[in-house]
Amino acid sequence: MSAIGNIPNPINEPILSYAPGTPERAALQAAIKSLGSTITEIPVVVNGKEHRPTKTITVTSPQRHQHKLATVHQAPAALLQDAIDGATTAQKDWEHWRFEDRAAVFMKAADLLCGPWRARMNAATLLGQSKTPHQAEIDAACELADFLRFNAHYAERLLHEQPISVPGVWNRLDYRPLEGFVYAITPFNFTAIGGNLPTAPAMLGNVALWKPSTTAMLSNWLFYQILQEAGLPPGVIQFVPGESATVSDVLISDPRLAGIHFTGSTGVFHSLWKGVANNLDKYRGYPRLVGETGGKDFILAHPSADVEALATALLRGAFEYQGQKCSAASRCYIPRSIWPRVQELLQAEIKQIKMGDPADFSMFMGAVIDERAFKRLEQVLAAAKKDPRVKIIAGGGCNSSEGWFVEPTVLLTTDPTHQIMSVEFFGPILSVYVYDDKEWDDVLTLVDTASPYALTGAIFSQDRAAVIDADRRLRHAAGNYYVNDKCTGAVVGQQPFGGGRASGTNDKAGSILNLYRWVSARTIKETGNPPKDWRYPYLG
Ligand code: NAD
Repeated sequence: MSAIGNIPNPINEPILSYAPGTPERAALQAAIKSLGSTITEIPVVVNGKEHRPTKTITVTSPQRHQHKLATVHQAPAALLQDAIDGATTAQKDWEHWRFEDRAAVFMKAADLLCGPWRARMNAATLLGQSKTPHQAEIDAACELADFLRFNAHYAERLLHEQPISVPGVWNRLDYRPLEGFVYAITPFNFTAIGGNLPTAPAMLGNVALWKPSTTAMLSNWLFYQILQEAGLPPGVIQFVPGESATVSDVLISDPRLAGIHFTGSTGVFHSLWKGVANNLDKYRGYPRLVGETGGKDFILAHPSADVEALATALLRGAFEYQGQKCSAASRCYIPRSIWPRVQELLQAEIKQIKMGDPADFSMFMGAVIDERAFKRLEQVLAAAKKDPRVKIIAGGGCNSSEGWFVEPTVLLTTDPTHQIMSVEFFGPILSVYVYDDKEWDDVLTLVDTASPYALTGAIFSQDRAAVIDADRRLRHAAGNYYVNDKCTGAVVGQQPFGGGRASGTNDKAGSILNLYRWVSARTIKETGNPPKDWRYPYLG
């Protein structure tokens, strides 16, 4: 075909309701039953071929930890080496595919995901990551499809960005992929991020080795099969589940490492960055390091705040998906004048929240991801109970008899520098500091400086002057900032996501800013009628 294709204008994938009687509800229930009654065997996929190394791990369901969901083969060092060789060989062809053809693969994947695979992807996310039908739908179906479609659209815009030319000269920018492979390391908490980190670079002609998170393995493996069905050529994205240290040792010490696309905790990103620094002399170029990391996201209320809207934002922001969104509200600052009413609402509403196996669709919350997370949160709650500076005003309990369940909890402290106001717990725990109304100015400084992170934050105020004040003073305190809205729920194409300080490199996943990190531009100047005399006229 000879044509310059236009990528269709993307629109956000509509969110299905799963209300009683809807076809999507029946399809999801059937998929949960079917996926939940098998133990899926997950291979390593290198150059399109499935490998089953002898070392395996077992994946269980967070809400029923005796329920085995998958057996995952772990890539050994030699296979990882083959994966690097295979990917860099595959790139020789892939990078020369027409952009439209590459984009078509990922747009087809989005259509397959939203169509025949939707129920299975949501079921895998519900069973494996303990998301409710709504949380699974907005992540595994809608956000992932949005990433694929919007990235195709942004990549097209990026490729159109060209320099000026003058008569007799044609200037162009050739957006080359990075020379080498991208190491994509993905977190457990969003199936969509799992899919996005290897595919965004691949769309621009890069090749990637994808190390999925153990606890998101089932949904991530399903998505890999979607990519294969959509026509992704062998070797372009290698699926390499494995032990983190083994995978990182091999990949980070390889001279062909061209970039890291990471989402996860700040500590792991630090160790990856240090690993790259230690190997710097080996690389052919400077690897691009893109990492979206932790948060201690805030909600700040002004005395003029609408109290009902504030309480709803706190409840949804802190407890949806058990507080395991990087954007989850985990510290809030409430003026004394409205605190009694806010407290009353929080306590009354938390009593209404149902927590349990999300396969029962009446649940608002499921379990936290694994035993490690459960133990960490259990310790936080035990310490809070003993701490004279902390009062538990709601929740505080946890139970691991069947699944990893932690109650939605509100901790109140009189000390704004207490670690419950600065440390990321990554669970359903909201810390509250009540300030005197007249200390508004000081509280802005507290919000800005209490934690090392700067991911998301929100202000609730009906007073425009306070909104303006906070906007200036908190400019660097959050990469995603909300006015009179909860600090979670960013939508691709609408609120590009990412933060600064210890929250990452702020390269805004699902936006053109992220895609710029995966190209290495070459400038081409072509002259129609080049000069044939070296002497300039002024020489006489
Ligand atoms: P994690 O850091 O424990 O794991 C992330 C990934 O890194 C996993 O695949 C894990 O296996 C891998 N990993 C761990 N050690 C590694 C090593 N030494 N080398 C290579 N890979 C290694 O994070 P998690 O528990 O999966 O996710 C929760 C964290 O992610 C939270 O801190 C959260 O704030 C953050 N997060 C941030 C964003 C964002 O956009 N800023 C989005 C989602 C999650």
